[in-house]
Amino acid sequence: MDKRGRPCRMARMGTRHVIWDWNGTLLDDAWLCMEILNGMLARRGLPQTDLARYRETFSFPVVNVYRAMGFDMSGDAFEKMSVEYIDEYQARRGECALQPGAVEALAALREAGLSQSILSAYRQDMLESVVAERGLGGYFDHLAGNTNIFAASKADYGRTLLKKIGLDREEVLLVGDTAHDCEVARELGVGCILVSCGHYSERRLRALGVPVFANLLQAARQLSREAIPSPTGNEQALPA
Ligand SMILES: [Mg+2]
Repeated sequence: MDKRGRPCRMARMGTRHVIWDWNGTLLDDAWLCMEILNGMLARRGLPQTDLARYRETFSFPVVNVYRAMGFDMSGDAFEKMSVEYIDEYQARRGECALQPGAVEALAALREAGLSQSILSAYRQDMLESVVAERGLGGYFDHLAGNTNIFAASKADYGRTLLKKIGLDREEVLLVGDTAHDCEVARELGVGCILVSCGHYSERRLRALGVPVFANLLQAARQLSREAIPSPTGNEQALPA
């Protein structure tokens, strides 16, 4: 179920295209977000958090995370904390690796004949540069970052991505790591699966009613099995 209580669509047979979320799904950055929060907590004399609690707390909008962590949100605290957080994230984002198995998962889905894209909250130019930095550009037909500063949801620019993909919505599936990804998939009318190696705990993801996988290799294995066979398809591309 999404946060308004409506069911998200499950993954179905016959996927031809996978839309990936970037942060927390392909990029292993939840630990960095937790460390940045811990630095901010320490500077204010507040108790530290850990990854398990972070994954139980993280949500959109981020102001709710700050409140749940015990920050004093009076006055212009949110604006100041946002700058503090973003500055440190930008300075340290290079420390984040891809999720374990990310490249193998992308390669296996390509082998299975699926096309792939990224739908990210990053600004378009930033998304293009981070994907190029990681040498992943060749896996994706489209990179859809935020081109509209007024966009409230990835669904706003996801619709443009769907038009570019040009397939039936039944043949498109979104892989993400948060309730927001599930909501975006529902708004776009595409299927959704979630991975619990990102910013949400497995417990919270399971409550959304879509398939949840512990890691990208497990997700890719399932998607390869469900893919519409192509002449070059190879379902044995992933280790068992
Ligand atoms: Mg994410």
